[in-house]
Amino acid sequence: MDITIQFAYVVAAALFIFGLKQLGSPATARRGNMISSFGMLLAIVAALLDQGIVDYQWIVIGIIIGGGIGATVARMVEMTSMPEMVALFNGFGGMASLLVGMAAIAPDSATFTLVTIVLSILIGGVTFTGSLVAYGKLSERISSAPVLFAKQQVVNGLIVAGIVISGLLFANNPDTGFWLFLVVVLSLAFGIMVVIPIGGADMPVVISLLNSYSGLAACAAGFAVDNNILIVAGSLVGASGIILTQIMCKAMNRSLSNVLFSGFGSGVVETAEVEGEIKPISVDDAYYVLEAASSVAIIPGYGMAVAQAQHVVKELMELLEENGCEVNFGIHPVAGRMPGHMNVLLAEADVPYDQLLEMDDINPRMETVDVAIVIGANDVVNPAARENEGSPIYGMPVINVDQARTVFVLKRSMASGFAGIENPLFYKENTRMLFGDAKESIGGLIREFS
Ligand code: NDP
Repeated sequence: MDITIQFAYVVAAALFIFGLKQLGSPATARRGNMISSFGMLLAIVAALLDQGIVDYQWIVIGIIIGGGIGATVARMVEMTSMPEMVALFNGFGGMASLLVGMAAIAPDSATFTLVTIVLSILIGGVTFTGSLVAYGKLSERISSAPVLFAKQQVVNGLIVAGIVISGLLFANNPDTGFWLFLVVVLSLAFGIMVVIPIGGADMPVVISLLNSYSGLAACAAGFAVDNNILIVAGSLVGASGIILTQIMCKAMNRSLSNVLFSGFGSGVVETAEVEGEIKPISVDDAYYVLEAASSVAIIPGYGMAVAQAQHVVKELMELLEENGCEVNFGIHPVAGRMPGHMNVLLAEADVPYDQLLEMDDINPRMETVDVAIVIGANDVVNPAARENEGSPIYGMPVINVDQARTVFVLKRSMASGFAGIENPLFYKENTRMLFGDAKESIGGLIREFS
């Protein structure tokens, strides 16, 4: 039996890896998801058949309560609140590993097992409270501003030292509950301490880092309970989370240490006055310009998700193409509020993948574009990132829509985006502001075309 279970674990691991590989391209992503899910089903069935670890009664109770809460919350959550939801998922994953670690303590545990127990509690605890803080910042239940104070690194150093010392004392004397209790409390405190100095605009990076931590915690828990598939699955989540973190850092032109320790925007005061004037445009006038355009770039952002405008955007794209215009989409890696947010929405509306161009592919073409239509994007098209050294986002790569011949910005007001900073794009000579809800404005354009 044991050999069959281990074999099932190997097959499940292979399916995870194969599925992950397919997630690398939008064209194969759905299949990849199915393959990985099937791998997980196989892994769960094999784990359930492994008599040594099964208590069906508790598993059924857990599935009913956890599954019920998960299904209800997932149905209720707005698409725009997905990042908060992901933050909570990561956090509960961490808490699960912490609890598994604690449950794995046995009087005759080997030192190696005790060390992995301490690690699963440490990483799980940090992931749990860190994710709760990230959730609070993203949902604006707490201020998203970085919290920095004197001697912060010293306090963090003391907490880490406390965790290491109490972890060692626990491993030396597992019967004394006090040291374990101290590891748990200090790990939870450390999770809060590592996320409070990080500003709201850096939250995408933090979420993917916490995702990686939740994998590492599961991996440590896998060692603690001696379950191979948990080790493999945890390592895969840990590694892919780190790769995504790296991609996000690159997209924001920041190093990971800069994100973690510098406090985005703290101490940076926006300099340089914004010059120029706002030039609003009506739907009628915007239509005439688009009607004459032969190439259009659409740059979606968080506002497209808020307005749920992806379907009308697709309709507008088709009308423009029928009119002989070439249409491409420019996708910034941190547009919206979660990695891949725009790709998911546009895929839902069946926009062909090959028309979605990454920032590095659309930017070189921007000077040849007749009209760039910015739909609810703000920070990811802010030229201050290129032009104003005093800007908190200076150095972040952005989509250079201001280099197109004409720019239409669809938004409701002059409000700032997530980073809370002024956008000189709105005042540029070639920019026209089409004020209103994005779905309604595009609906108006569609009516004009039809
Ligand atoms: P921004 O948050 O910069 O701007 C969104 C704009 O959409 C706002 O200026 C808002 O203006 C407009 N808007 C909101 N609702 C509507 C509506 N119904 N119709 C039309 N416009 C609307 O979004 P971007 O996508 O440009 O940038 C993403 C930002 O979020 C970056 O700072 C990024 O770092 C951060 N972030 C990204 C995450 C990710 O993983 N992608 C996760 C967390 C944060 P108005 O109110 O005037 O309409």
